[in-house]
Amino acid sequence: MRNTDHDTFAEPVNTGGGSTFNKLRLAHSSDSTCVGTDVLRQTTISTSITMNGIGLHKGTLVRLVLKPADANTGIVFRRTDLETSDRAITDIPARYDSVIDATMCTTIGNAAGTKVATIEHLMAAVSALQIDNLLIEVDAEEVPVMDGSSDAFIALLDQAGQATLASPRRYIRVLEPIALEDGLRHGTLHPCDDGLRIELSIDFDNQVIGKQDLALTISPDSFRRELARSRTFGFLKDVEMLRSLGLAKGATLENAVVLDGEEVLNDGGLRSPDEFVRHKTLDAVGDLALAGAPILGCYNASRAGHAFNNQVLHALFANPDSWEYVTCDESVDVMADVPKMMVSAD
Ligand SMILES: [Zn+2]
Repeated sequence: MRNTDHDTFAEPVNTGGGSTFNKLRLAHSSDSTCVGTDVLRQTTISTSITMNGIGLHKGTLVRLVLKPADANTGIVFRRTDLETSDRAITDIPARYDSVIDATMCTTIGNAAGTKVATIEHLMAAVSALQIDNLLIEVDAEEVPVMDGSSDAFIALLDQAGQATLASPRRYIRVLEPIALEDGLRHGTLHPCDDGLRIELSIDFDNQVIGKQDLALTISPDSFRRELARSRTFGFLKDVEMLRSLGLAKGATLENAVVLDGEEVLNDGGLRSPDEFVRHKTLDAVGDLALAGAPILGCYNASRAGHAFNNQVLHALFANPDSWEYVTCDESVDVMADVPKMMVSAD
């Protein structure tokens, strides 16, 4: 599913919008470690921070460095192992139209052929903590897998702290439902002015997983509490097959829930009985973060994976009438528990 038309990373075009004003209620955080309470302005991290970890596919040590970035930079991945400083070669914007493979994990690439794999759990943490601008350096073709969840990335971002920038934050507001079906998978992105809400269901022919569903409005608090520690999962037979192909060299019981039939092989078992749907929801947060700006909408999906989530974004941006960019202005209702915002089309 390599995109052929992404030699430039032009933003989605939306020539619509007008002078209509609408009331908006955003889910917000009461957690003082986040600047998530400031829905008005863009953020970045306060200081650069480094972490090392094993890459899932190559099984080698990867050095990850997060650096502050200016307003309107967005999230940009940079390969530091390529012996060139040509940004057209080293840099890849974390955007839906940079995705070149989403079969196992989400891999983004640029026109020069540079790629970075396994970005989704880091992207989920970055977007859940409402960080708009960030430079992410890696010295390999993949982001370290850590424990297969977003936990280590949340801890790293907390350590780096957040800085609020002067520019207003721009949201992508869904205006009309976008529905997609692909065999047994189906999903709809609906309008919702409460922020990003995700309603997912999964159905596996396996007694440990079975049918699970979860509905959650994503905020820094709800992500930390309900999703961040849920790990990716897989089946032993698939890991063995991937290893025979020279893939998943870094896959161990330390970075994924591994099932052998109906048995969870990890010491300590699951972190919650529904860890599977929680992780799929975490994945969806990371995949939808590739919209390039926070989404105001509700994503309701069944059996969705990385590739399907990416198709939904392509469908949204293919239809300029179905969304608009909006920024928030403070309302006079300062006494409300949840701040009410006036929203204007950008
Ligand atoms: Zn995942």
